[in-house]
Amino acid sequence: MTFKSFHPPVRTLMGPGPSDVNPRVLAAMSRPTIGHLDPVFVDMMDEMKGLLQYAFQTRNALTLPVSAPGSAGMETCFVNLVQPGDTVVVCANGVFGGRMKENVERCGATPVMVEDEWGKPVDPQKLEDALKAHPQASTVAFVHAETSTGACSDVKTLTDIAHRHGCLVIVDSVTGLGGVELRVDDWGVDAIYSGSQKCLSCTPGLSPVSFNEAAVERIKSRKHKVQSWFLDLSLVMGYWGGGTKRAYHHTAPINALYALHESLVVLQEEGLENAWARHRAQHEALKAGLDTMGLSMIVAPEHRLPQLNAVKVPAGVDEAAVRKLLLDEFNLEIGAGLGPLAGKVWRIGLMGYGANRKNVLFCLGALETALVAQGADIVPGRAVAAARAVYGA
Ligand SMILES: *Cc1c(COP(=O)(O)O)cnc(C)c1O
Repeated sequence: MTFKSFHPPVRTLMGPGPSDVNPRVLAAMSRPTIGHLDPVFVDMMDEMKGLLQYAFQTRNALTLPVSAPGSAGMETCFVNLVQPGDTVVVCANGVFGGRMKENVERCGATPVMVEDEWGKPVDPQKLEDALKAHPQASTVAFVHAETSTGACSDVKTLTDIAHRHGCLVIVDSVTGLGGVELRVDDWGVDAIYSGSQKCLSCTPGLSPVSFNEAAVERIKSRKHKVQSWFLDLSLVMGYWGGGTKRAYHHTAPINALYALHESLVVLQEEGLENAWARHRAQHEALKAGLDTMGLSMIVAPEHRLPQLNAVKVPAGVDEAAVRKLLLDEFNLEIGAGLGPLAGKVWRIGLMGYGANRKNVLFCLGALETALVAQGADIVPGRAVAAARAVYGA
């Protein structure tokens, strides 16, 4: 059997991630590979730290991309900040809160769950009550932008509550970073992780993280060794924080880091506030089009993430058949529902480079076609026209 080169189709990625990658990022990735201790590469890494500090709006010295996907950023936060015997309050309002619980347990700690309905943000009052009931808690973990539902939680309010009870916070902003307002320093976030493939328009496989001084102090005063050698920040810091005397820890994913660097340069060129506003504007146009088809969102308007639109599947429509038609005929990927929302919603991503007018109009036109094929009672053309009206066209 002879194998041939792999040539993937060109898709439009409008699901929960990965999202459309900026062509500048793919081009950067194909630049020559150099050594990971090459002085030129080390300079690029120093720039990367500054670019990530800008994206996170932080001065935290310990800000770096973990050499693995968002899940590894999650694990980096938990294994470094949580020790056996700790109590960690985990807020769960979707898939990713459940994964945080798994992480806490694997650290030998006890999770205390604060549950909210899928599609709702984390309820600050429930967190307050849980912390009063569990004064021994050391850490609070929650998701900023829940990709499984499209709900945005109030990072500042939740962080303030955690701090009043003497806890550090771990925040998942894998889908938040670059897409909605996030101010790590102003909001007092202690530890945060993100991902390269959502609103940063980069390829998957890297996880930006940032830790403030309180978090670093906790890592330094640990009694137990971090259970993961690869993710132990006291070792990783020797490579990323070492200045001129960087020590070998692992071989950095050189070309993947070129890609992340380029995506962060693109973000800086646009300006963070402008990127947040663009996501919001594209969401408004998509929403106007969906309205004309009688499609509604599961999240209340004030808690909606512009970059992740969880849309209710109308009665009588085969949700999987719609996604199949979009993929087969339009090369368009949208996401399915997870957990309790499986079969009940589509998840339409407007992330990073993909949050643009062409994608919005294309997706609406394709959805109109797919719904007509399902026998839905809609007038084709109205959705696209409604979105164009939002753009002032
Ligand atoms: C995508 C995602 C993750 C996991 O990131 P991977 O890169 O898939 O490991 C974690 N949390 C949230 C909120 C996400 O959307």
